[in-house]
Amino acid sequence: MTALTVWNNCLSFVKDNIQLQAYKTWFEPIIPIKLQDNILSVQVPSKFFYEWLEEHYVKLLKVVLTKELGKDAKLVYIIKMENNYGNDISFTEKIPSEYKPKIKSQDLDSSSNFLKTNLTNPFIIPGIKNLKIDSQLNLNYNFESFLEGDSNRLARSAGYAVSKRPGGTSFNPLLIFGGVGLGKTHLANAIGINVKQAFPEKTVLYISAEKFTQQYVDSVKKNNRNDFIHFYQLIDVLIIDDVQFFSGKSGTQDVFFHIFNHLHQNGKQVVLTSDKAPVDMQEIEQRLLSRFKWGLSAELQTPDYETRISIIKNKLSRDGVLMDEEIIYYVAKHIKTNIRELEGAIISLMAQSSFNKKQITLDLAKVIVEKFVKNTKKEISIDQIQKVVSDYFQMDVSTLQSKTRKRHIVQARQLAMFFSKKFTKASLASIGTKIGHRDHATVLHACKTVDNLAFTDKQFRKYVEDLDKKFTD
Ligand code: ADP
Ligand code: MG
Repeated sequence: MTALTVWNNCLSFVKDNIQLQAYKTWFEPIIPIKLQDNILSVQVPSKFFYEWLEEHYVKLLKVVLTKELGKDAKLVYIIKMENNYGNDISFTEKIPSEYKPKIKSQDLDSSSNFLKTNLTNPFIIPGIKNLKIDSQLNLNYNFESFLEGDSNRLARSAGYAVSKRPGGTSFNPLLIFGGVGLGKTHLANAIGINVKQAFPEKTVLYISAEKFTQQYVDSVKKNNRNDFIHFYQLIDVLIIDDVQFFSGKSGTQDVFFHIFNHLHQNGKQVVLTSDKAPVDMQEIEQRLLSRFKWGLSAELQTPDYETRISIIKNKLSRDGVLMDEEIIYYVAKHIKTNIRELEGAIISLMAQSSFNKKQITLDLAKVIVEKFVKNTKKEISIDQIQKVVSDYFQMDVSTLQSKTRKRHIVQARQLAMFFSKKFTKASLASIGTKIGHRDHATVLHACKTVDNLAFTDKQFRKYVEDLDKKFTD
């Protein structure tokens, strides 16, 4: 009996028990590696792949292996990993949860937290000489997996330059800013990973602004604020993610200001990310904002179509999943503003197809993309609402806004106010101002009236429903 023969027997059983498409996606890429004392080791293409098997097929695998190798059968996954500290491929072994002793909760824990490190308490510093700090970097977020495009070229190359000469460029601090899901966290990690690779002796720390704040608050409670500051002053490359979180937190801003100054004066590198440009940051002290501007602020913009396609293709190949080009183009064409959503749509597609045992078809892609796009649909403006309501009642916007008390016009105006309240984040006052210079009480009254009328008046309810459809379709 060899690994290959055993695995082929398993496959023919699996094939009979699951949908062909799922079989092709999740079982064909598995390579049997070795068989030793009832332990079969198989290689899977990615961590994602392993998690998928664990979640959906572990029972099936257990059944089929027991059938082939007896009740002592065991399975070990070997995950092909890209090694972040060099270009070699390395392998990690995982044991499926089914085969784990159930008592050791610790083991199970570590399996779900695969590759994630726990935050080490920064206050436990065993002697400053052998300072060993867990960098908290996410090794999947490296430069190799951060695809370049026009939208990120400046930020990416600045980040790269900083990682080659931390503290030695004029990009200090380097502030990476951009909207949600555009790669700030990824790029910030990539910088840290590269520094560790080029300068193993340097202390790198990645921390979210939120955690930093939490630690600071704790340190104040425990009366060791100085230890906190001291700890951070020892870092060579400090990466703080999402500094907009510091908004309005003056204590944290103050302590960060001191740490920043110390690091900067000592030629240490600071990397920050934010969802806003410094000019747009609110409730951040001026002296801090001016520090942010000392270095370079580089923006991550929304990726263009080509970059979106390469990002999808890259993800698919890392996960070892095949998908028709037509579908890739479709997804890339329709999801434009958020790379996390782009990836999310691809993951849903794989999931839907496997879970509901459907083929990954263009139609399925359309359904899924629509869900993503709908959720992120741009907010409708008050102007658009007035236009839609006026059109519906066949009047001009200026009529709708006029001072007249004619009943049908008043109703149209009230509906415009009601829907502005419902579909925009604008305040009552600003809705009033936009819809014919009314005050906030008028808007409030309008909203209540619409609610009441929709309840009591059938015709009016029809208006509300028709219009609602127009806004949500
Ligand atoms: P942010 O921190 O800006 O909200 P993230 O860094 O978390 O965004 O990125 C969201 C997702 O998009 C991550 O999975 C990340 O790996 C991916 N991503 C972002 N930019 C790129 C890129 N240029 N190439 C490949 N993947 C990217
Ligand atoms: Mg982020």
